[in-house]
Amino acid sequence: MSAPREIPSSIPRVGLGWDLHRLAPGRPCILGGIRIASPVGPVGHSDADVLLHALCDALLGAAGLDDLGTLFPDTDPQWKDTPSTRFVEEALRLLETKGLHPLSLDAVLRCDRPKIRPHRSAIREQLAGLLSLPPDRVNLKGKTLEGSSSGPETIEAQVIVLLGEKDA
Ligand code: MG
Repeated sequence: MSAPREIPSSIPRVGLGWDLHRLAPGRPCILGGIRIASPVGPVGHSDADVLLHALCDALLGAAGLDDLGTLFPDTDPQWKDTPSTRFVEEALRLLETKGLHPLSLDAVLRCDRPKIRPHRSAIREQLAGLLSLPPDRVNLKGKTLEGSSSGPETIEAQVIVLLGEKDA
């Protein structure tokens, strides 16, 4: 086997994150750090922000770091009901120690409820703020399940990010 190729540190790194939560009536619905009015919300140990969980895994994955579940286990009582913006801040801090920062983000939220379109701009703006990115470097699409699910109601997020060197 040959030695690993040397890749210049200025070459951007891509990261992919995915998450899924069950939806239940009466749960707060927080997506991308924005609380939105909805008859159902994601069930989870923290605030169950499926979009920010997928975002953290994309950031950590691109940087070659451990995933969200390893860094902030849902068996640890200190993370109970934690706002997921804290996980993003922590992921960004870890990236910073490696001299990396986000360059762009694209995301898909897949659910039948709530409708994403009315909240799309607010969530985009919030994500751009969290990552200190211009709004046109952050995007979000809402997709429905088209009645294809026969199981429990769920919400699913996919996030892809590009990371670059901080001083490049
Ligand atoms: Mg999660």
